[in-house]
Amino acid sequence: MKKKKVYIIYTGGTIGMVRTPKGYAPYKGYMYRELEAVSELNADNMPEYIINEYDPLLDSSNISQQEWIKVAKDIEKNYHLYDGFVVLHGTDTMAYTASALSFMLEGLGKPVVVTGSQIPLWEVRNDARENIITALQIAAGYDIPEVSLYFNGKLFRGCRSIKTSSDTLDAFQSPNFPLLARAGVNIEVNYNMIIHPSLKKLNVLEFGNFPIAIVKIFPGMQTDVLKNILKPPLKGIIIEAFGVGNIPTRDENLEKVFREAADRGVVIIVCTQCLEGDAHIGVYETSRILVEAGAVSGYDMTTEAALAKLYYLFSKNYELEDIKRLVEENLRGELTKPLYTRGVYGV
Ligand code: ASP
Repeated sequence: MKKKKVYIIYTGGTIGMVRTPKGYAPYKGYMYRELEAVSELNADNMPEYIINEYDPLLDSSNISQQEWIKVAKDIEKNYHLYDGFVVLHGTDTMAYTASALSFMLEGLGKPVVVTGSQIPLWEVRNDARENIITALQIAAGYDIPEVSLYFNGKLFRGCRSIKTSSDTLDAFQSPNFPLLARAGVNIEVNYNMIIHPSLKKLNVLEFGNFPIAIVKIFPGMQTDVLKNILKPPLKGIIIEAFGVGNIPTRDENLEKVFREAADRGVVIIVCTQCLEGDAHIGVYETSRILVEAGAVSGYDMTTEAALAKLYYLFSKNYELEDIKRLVEENLRGELTKPLYTRGVYGV
């Protein structure tokens, strides 16, 4: 039988890093050699693969929209030549990249699996080997036409994933959404959850670079701090609020600060600081200011997905009202609206 073919994009990250006097850093050409030494990759049931090592290789802390576009365009260019795609990436911003690719790759009909590791491939005890092998198998052999993130036996929807551990091998979770697949003795796919594209053709939407902020609210936060952040040229802000979307409201100037920003067209998305559950403003009096300023609820979207979605919606050049409406709609499986709310402000 003809072997399946997978295109591997190697962007950098711990998976291929070496120790340097300045700390761990990626090293050109190293991944090719290391992968050649992984004998399992030549097994009969493994796909053929080709690896495109990027230059420069990056710690994912340095990855930005530019690299998201580069990866998306690379997938587009090679789309018809391969059965699936694996993106090797640092773990630090992997959930951001997986979220961004979910929005950029419209009409995706093949698997794109983003993975990496907490320990480099050259270390005797590492998680890189298993993550690469299984990511390759998933990319080649399963009907999962989504951007997913594979780590430690778990396949997550890319735009639902978050990094939750800096030092365990179980580094990712998707607290508000079930796994797309679990790789135990067998790879068990949760086929009911897999989204198939309605568009039949891949279309890459290149993100523009927009002034966006993410702010985590904390007790006693000064209004002036927010006022400064909300100043022009800001276009959009993701507020990580308390609980279901609450903020401190005792300073009466705060309302004006939000309203002025909203009147200038700043999109205000409210997400929750909680790992589980969602933000829907209007439940408590402490989110009234946000409702009245025209903020929108991020529901159970991760901050990473909210950020990617904002870039996506701005890049589409939609009207402000459409952007606000679409933030609250499910576009890529990134959010679930609660079936009921605990009482809505004004009702
Ligand atoms: N700093 C590394 C990176 O994100 C961490 C890792 O890959 O685990 O590139």
